[in-house]
Amino acid sequence: MLLDGKALAQRLQAQLQIKIADWQAHVGRPPGLAVLMVGEHPPSQAYVRNKNAACERLGIARYGQHFSVDVSAATLRQTILDLNADPRVDGILIQLPLPIGLDELPLLLAIDPDKDADGLHPVNMGRLLRGEPGLRSCTPAGVMAILHSAGVEIAGQKAVVVGRSLLVGKPVALMLLEANATVIMAHSRTPNLAAVTREADILVPAVGKPGLITAEHVKPGAVVVDVGINRLESGQLVGDVDFAAVELIARAITPVPGGVGPMTVTMLLYNTCVSYCRRNGLVAPDWAALI
Ligand code: NAD
Repeated sequence: MLLDGKALAQRLQAQLQIKIADWQAHVGRPPGLAVLMVGEHPPSQAYVRNKNAACERLGIARYGQHFSVDVSAATLRQTILDLNADPRVDGILIQLPLPIGLDELPLLLAIDPDKDADGLHPVNMGRLLRGEPGLRSCTPAGVMAILHSAGVEIAGQKAVVVGRSLLVGKPVALMLLEANATVIMAHSRTPNLAAVTREADILVPAVGKPGLITAEHVKPGAVVVDVGINRLESGQLVGDVDFAAVELIARAITPVPGGVGPMTVTMLLYNTCVSYCRRNGLVAPDWAALI
C-alpha cells in the first residue's frame, strides 16, 4: 500500500478550510499565522512560499515578515514579543535554519508556547514528554496522522525510529510511545543498524541519508514512513529509503516526495487552528476526527 501523504494533506486541509469559514463567522476574524524568515536560504524560501500558499487557500491570515540576513537578535526578539501580544496572531514560527551568528534557542524561548505553531518550544516538548495536551511538533504529528489514516495498528507494535533529532526523531518516538508502541531509537552510534530495524513492525527513518534503508533493513510486511528528504545531484528528491527495493517487501510505505512532507505543512495549519480555537473559547478539533 502506498501511504499517500499528499492526498491525506489535501483531505485534512479541505476539512480545515470548511471549519475556518465557520469559525470566522462566529469569531469575526480568521486564524492568523506569522512565519518569520531571515536571509535568502533557497530551500527555506521554498518552504515559506508553500506555507503562505497553504494559508491563502485555507483562509488563514498571514502576519509573516522577511528579514535581511544581518537583522539583529534584539529586533527578532522584539518582533516575536509584539506578535505574542497581537490578538490577531494565533501561531508564530521562525523558519529554520537561521543564518550563522543567530542563536535559535533564545528566539524559540521568546515565543508564547500557546502560539508555538511548530510545536518546538521546550514547554511544548515537555508537555509531549509528560503526555499533556499542547501544540505538537508538525513532522512527527504528520507521521502519526499518516499511520492513523491507513488504519495501522500502533499499540503493542514494535516501532523503530532511526535518528534522534529534537525536530523529528525524539518527538516521533515519544508520540509512538504515547500510542502504546514498544519503541526503539536507533542513531548514528547504533551498531548493526539492519539487525535493529529488521525488528520493526513500524519503521520511521529520519536521518537525511539517501539509500540508508535498503531491503535488508526491513522486515517483510513492515510499515515504513520515510521522513528523510534528500536532493540528489540530479536534482531528484528522495527519502532515506531505497523505495524501489523496499516497496516490494513492505506492507505499506510513504513516497518521497508526497509522503510526510505535505503533512508537515498541514499540521502547522492545524496547530494554528488549535491555538485559535483555544484562544476564542471554541472546541479545537482532533485531527483524527477530521481524517
Ligand atoms: P538531523 O541531522 O538533525 O538528525 C539526523 C539524525 O540521524 C541524527 O540523530 C543522527 O544520529 C542520525 N544518523 C545520522 N547518520 C546515521 C546513520 N548512518 N545511521 C543511523 N542514524 C544516523 O536531521 P533532522 O532534522 O532530524 O532531519 C532528518 C531528515 O528528515 C532530513 O533528511 C530532513 O531533511 C528530513 N526532514 C523532513 C521533514 C518532512 O517534512 N518530511 C521535516 C524535517 C526533516
